[in-house]
Formats: sequence, structure tokens, C-alpha cells
Amino acid sequence: MQNLPFKLNKKFSFSSFKFSSLKNPKKIQEYQNRVWDVCKQIYKGGLVEFGEGNVSHRVFKEDLEKNSIEQIFITPTHNDYSTIQQNDIVHVDFNGKLLSDSRKPSSELPLHLGIYKSRPKVNCIIHTHSPFASMLAVSGMDLPCIIEEMALFLGSGVKCSKFASAGSTELPKEALKAMGNINSCILKNHGVLVAYKDTKYAVKAALLIEKMSKIYIGAKQLGKVDILDLSQLKSLTQLFYDSISTTNN
Ligand SMILES: [Zn+2]
Repeated sequence: MQNLPFKLNKKFSFSSFKFSSLKNPKKIQEYQNRVWDVCKQIYKGGLVEFGEGNVSHRVFKEDLEKNSIEQIFITPTHNDYSTIQQNDIVHVDFNGKLLSDSRKPSSELPLHLGIYKSRPKVNCIIHTHSPFASMLAVSGMDLPCIIEEMALFLGSGVKCSKFASAGSTELPKEALKAMGNINSCILKNHGVLVAYKDTKYAVKAALLIEKMSKIYIGAKQLGKVDILDLSQLKSLTQLFYDSISTTNN
């Protein structure tokens, strides 16, 4: 680092000064762009509105400085998806320490960090308040496996968690319990959470859960729902566990 153009004093803190803790500082924009791109896709898909939900991405180990604590990039608090810019995406470490002079991170940071710490294979987390899945959330209902695509991309139906307050450290615990052996869950009286290895499948899962929730609620209105038998879909669930699952099974 070059000489600083000012004297350090007690009021100054590096947490308010923009510096890189990645091997290659140019990678910061790459991660911000990944999160921003997911924001645009879930907004376009009608899964989030102003101030709702959040998106994050883990920094890959190869991009971290040696002995550096793990880090993520996450959407800011009071996020407006219609106007968000790449440099609004916040860089924090696993202790929640701000690593950029950008905005404050989402208040759901503990939810994201709790999932990343428990599931090393997770690289992208999306949390939405998408309307049809949220109907199941307020009813405390699971989304059963009703169309084969669910077995391949979700691994099974999606369970609804027990209630825990937004922003609490209990929320990731309840989410992980409901996720079980798959990568997603419905958050009781709240919304949806998906935790995948990459952004592509995370977006796919978030959109699929909303679409399947809509179909399930519609079919219930018709008066009859035939739930698929997972034992007949073993080739699809095996593909999920072989390549998409973020559990160690
Ligand atoms: Zn939320």
C-alpha cells in the first residue's frame, strides 16, 4: 500500500475505507456482478419487490488471501431491485464485518452466514417472498413433489420450516432443519430460501418453487392433487444428489 494521504487518528477505521481483501481486487466487481445479475433475474421473474428478499454469493477459496476468513457478497438493506447497481452489493466476512465502504448489508445476513457455515458446498443463496410459495408459508404447508422436474432440480418436495423471526440466529437453524437433504425450504410465515452451488441452479430453483406452488394451490382449488411417488423417480433424484445437492450425502 502506498503512503496514506492523511494521518491515522482514533476516529479513522479501516472498515470505512475501501480496500480489497481478495487476491485480485478486480474480482470484487465480478462477485458484485454475479449477485446483481441474480437480483435482475428474480425481479424480472416476479419473485421480489422493493425491500423484499436478498441474494448472496460466497467468495471462492482460491480468491481469498492466505489465512483470510471466509467472505460473501450480499444485497444491501432496503434494496430496490429496479434501481440496484453492481456497486450496491455489499462485501462482508463470516463475522459480518464490512469489507467495503458500500451500503449496509441485508438484515438477513445471519440467515445467509448460518447456511454458508453449515453447508460448505453452497455458493449462492436466494431468499424471496414470492407470492404463491408465501401462501404455503403462511398456511404452514409443505410443497409436495407434483411434477417430475421437481425431483431433478429440487430433489423432492419442499418442506415448510418452523417459525423464527427475520434476522434472528434461530432462522438459519430452522431453515436447515426444514431443508434436510435438499437445498431449499419454505420459511414459515415468511417466504422461500434456496441454497445452491451456483447462481444458475439457484435462480432455477427459486423460479420453480414459485411456479410449482402456483400449480399446487390451483390444483387444490380444483379439488384433487395427485402427489408423485419419489420411489418411481429414482433416476431423477439420483441426478440431483450426484450433481446439484449441497449436502454431503
Ligand atoms: Zn425475508
